[in-house]
Amino acid sequence: MSERFFPLALADLEGLAAKYPTPFYLYDERGIREHARRFLKAFSRFPGFKEFFAVKACPNPYILKILASEGIGADCSSLPELILAERAGILGEDIMFSSNETPESEYIYANLKGAVINLDDITHIEYLERAIGGIPELISFRYNPGPLREGNALIGKPEEAKYGLTRAQILEAYPIARSKGAKRFALHTMVASNELNSDYFIETARMLFELAVEIKEKTGIRIELVDLGGGIGIPYRPGQKAVDYDYVADGIERAYNEIVKPAGLDPLRISFECGRPFTGPYGWLVTRAIHEKHIYREYVGVDASMADLMRPGMYGAYHHVTVAGKEDAPKDHVYDVVGSLCENCDKFAVQRELPRIDRGDFVIVHDAGAHGRAMGFNYNAKLRSGELLLREDGKIVEIRRRETVDDYFATLDFKGLPAFKA
Ligand SMILES: *Cc1c(COP(=O)(O)O)cnc(C)c1O
Repeated sequence: MSERFFPLALADLEGLAAKYPTPFYLYDERGIREHARRFLKAFSRFPGFKEFFAVKACPNPYILKILASEGIGADCSSLPELILAERAGILGEDIMFSSNETPESEYIYANLKGAVINLDDITHIEYLERAIGGIPELISFRYNPGPLREGNALIGKPEEAKYGLTRAQILEAYPIARSKGAKRFALHTMVASNELNSDYFIETARMLFELAVEIKEKTGIRIELVDLGGGIGIPYRPGQKAVDYDYVADGIERAYNEIVKPAGLDPLRISFECGRPFTGPYGWLVTRAIHEKHIYREYVGVDASMADLMRPGMYGAYHHVTVAGKEDAPKDHVYDVVGSLCENCDKFAVQRELPRIDRGDFVIVHDAGAHGRAMGFNYNAKLRSGELLLREDGKIVEIRRRETVDDYFATLDFKGLPAFKA
């Protein structure tokens, strides 16, 4: 038994790499669908429950289309993300548009498409009004609880976070929006990132339910949708446990019965906008060992770099690494697995116990399906890898080709010497 699931055997991987040279991302449609169904099943007890998939986690329309076919919407934060959702067939109020220093043009587009507009600040009421000539019928505000919540390591303390409105501003904002024509109201928050403590999400629901009651009591405004944000973590490290969706749903239901029902706010729709758990565990960065180096430490150099997967270099994130065909071999070597960027943080694994790695071995970086390819960049003029999708019928299709030098030059209007063609 392999310690971590990877859907292809070594021989299949050899064949695949002959057609699509490494590095590449591989996604597993079956895993994505099965998780989506499990998630929706747990929360289906809440009428009108919606998951808006955070497009930034895996901005590929093929993936969005798979999720859309399971009944999942999109959480967008930019114009191209809105267009990605639209191209994948996600429309209207199935799109949550969460603003954050949002330019006029994006508000105009989101409004044109009938997305739920979620304002990040009280000053955006006037900004939005000017951009689109009014306030849409349905409006949402993002709440920042400040010192009332602790946050977590990845997202930081809420009172140091740039997002959302204070409690006092929230109570002020809804009546202003109403006076400018809004008739339907949603409430949003996002206070954790990659959180594995199931109770955290129950506390978030409780916090928003209580706020919705306070809004009703103080302003007479009835919130129809509370969006609990994203932030559900995944077990990147061996031994960590995934969030238990049934447990979370049970806890939210209890809070709903205690807070929402007695206040006469039932039915109140609930939504999440998770990205990570929906695609993270079902995507892998497949790379190949091309060098070994023996200096003060033992290094394995691979053909992918931090430009393909930024998380380990950016915040020391752990990604599990396995070697294809050596899943059961003893881990009797200690390596730094590194990429080719001129930055010493370009390391997929640091001082990691792994089996002996030989040149040509496939080194598989796990849990790379969310905030992986999406966070890629072109520093050092590195060309980002492509994306492959393992369909449920076992066929593998390319859903994004790897970048070429021509892609790199596409934004340059430079008439210099012609490139040497070998
Ligand atoms: C990043 C983000 C999400 C998704 O976060 P995950 O950790 O991928 O679940 C959801 N909503 C907002 C506003 C975000 O910024």
